[in-house]
Amino acid sequence: MSEKADRFRDYDITTRAVHTGNDYDKETGAVRRPLHMANSYKLPDDLSKVNYSSTDLLFYSRNGNPNQHWLEEKVASLYGAKDTIILASGVGALHALFWTLLKTGDHVVYPKVSYMAVYRLFHELFNRKFGVKTEMADMTDLEAVKKAITPGTRLVHIETPDNPTNHVSDIAEIARIAHENGALLSVDNTFASPYNQHPLELGADFVVDSLTKFVNGHGDAQGGAIISNDIETMERIRYEAQVNVGAVISPFNAWQIFRGAVTFPLRMDRINKSTQKIAEWLETRENVTFVSYPGLKSNKGHELAARQMTNGFGGVISFGLRADDKKVEQFCAKLRVVTFAVSLGHDESLIFPQPSYDERIGLYPEEFRKGFIRFSVGLEEPDDIIADLDQALKAVGL
Ligand SMILES: *Cc1c(COP(=O)(O)O)cnc(C)c1O
Repeated sequence: MSEKADRFRDYDITTRAVHTGNDYDKETGAVRRPLHMANSYKLPDDLSKVNYSSTDLLFYSRNGNPNQHWLEEKVASLYGAKDTIILASGVGALHALFWTLLKTGDHVVYPKVSYMAVYRLFHELFNRKFGVKTEMADMTDLEAVKKAITPGTRLVHIETPDNPTNHVSDIAEIARIAHENGALLSVDNTFASPYNQHPLELGADFVVDSLTKFVNGHGDAQGGAIISNDIETMERIRYEAQVNVGAVISPFNAWQIFRGAVTFPLRMDRINKSTQKIAEWLETRENVTFVSYPGLKSNKGHELAARQMTNGFGGVISFGLRADDKKVEQFCAKLRVVTFAVSLGHDESLIFPQPSYDERIGLYPEEFRKGFIRFSVGLEEPDDIIADLDQALKAVGL
């Protein structure tokens, strides 16, 4: 897919989420586009012009499938972007982007606090296997970012807010620093989601979003997106990574995420409000040692977040309990409404402790090293969630 006209470009995000990518089914007139569970498509009679490594022609589902393409239109529209590539997971999307952009000898600056797979890719894999030079920086500190950049820096990658500490970094300033030094900026926007934050408008070159989380929102399908206005590089990602590494999304998962995305703006609006309320409640609790949520006035990234997150502050709260690992687990196990499981952005609230023996705990600020919990707020009534947290805190003597 190259740039496609979005008929709903001038409408609100709620209208775009409903309509973009959908159309009457040509064969039956059905008001939903069908699910095409086919590996292969009829070849043209003249094969001389077929390029089997390209994604221009529908002929094999790894090179592209209609459900993937329709979801690409919808996600591009949510981001107001020219192009989107949908792959099998958020990590598949991150890998495809890094693998296409970087080569031996290139330098990349990546966050001190990031999603686990980004840490693995740059701390252990790209450097040791491919000779990419990788350097960590505290992305909340612009001086540290400047210092980490070298003449060979090809890419700066950030996450804002970051997983799992929920800290905010300055997209526009980091884009400026990267570009001044001849580097590109990619932003993992999963925590913020396209309802709250548009990194391309702030100067980022690429956005990655794990659709597994808020955009699908139902905890039943995995997918990831790369979003950009750089059509030429996007075509390279399709050719080099989608076709030849192979992490394309299955038509069924694309169909499910397409359906989930229809209600995404409505869910995110509610989640923003519920999360703010719950974060403010947590702040009043004596045995809560810290609450990291960019919507809180007490948060050191609040002003920056208020500038670059235009509709709200997202659905994740990172907080600490005055408790050891065992007591934190007991607290999580006592919850009745909130589900004790990894992931985030589902319809149900999810809680996940970050144990003090995590190998990266030393990279987090001091207060995060004990009793640290990542909490993803779902669609339940916020007062029910608060009551549930309250009973579980009491049950473990907090
Ligand atoms: C979950 C997540 C990912 C990875 O997405 P998957 O779909 O699980 O591969 C990447 N970045 C962030 C910030 C995430 O929360």
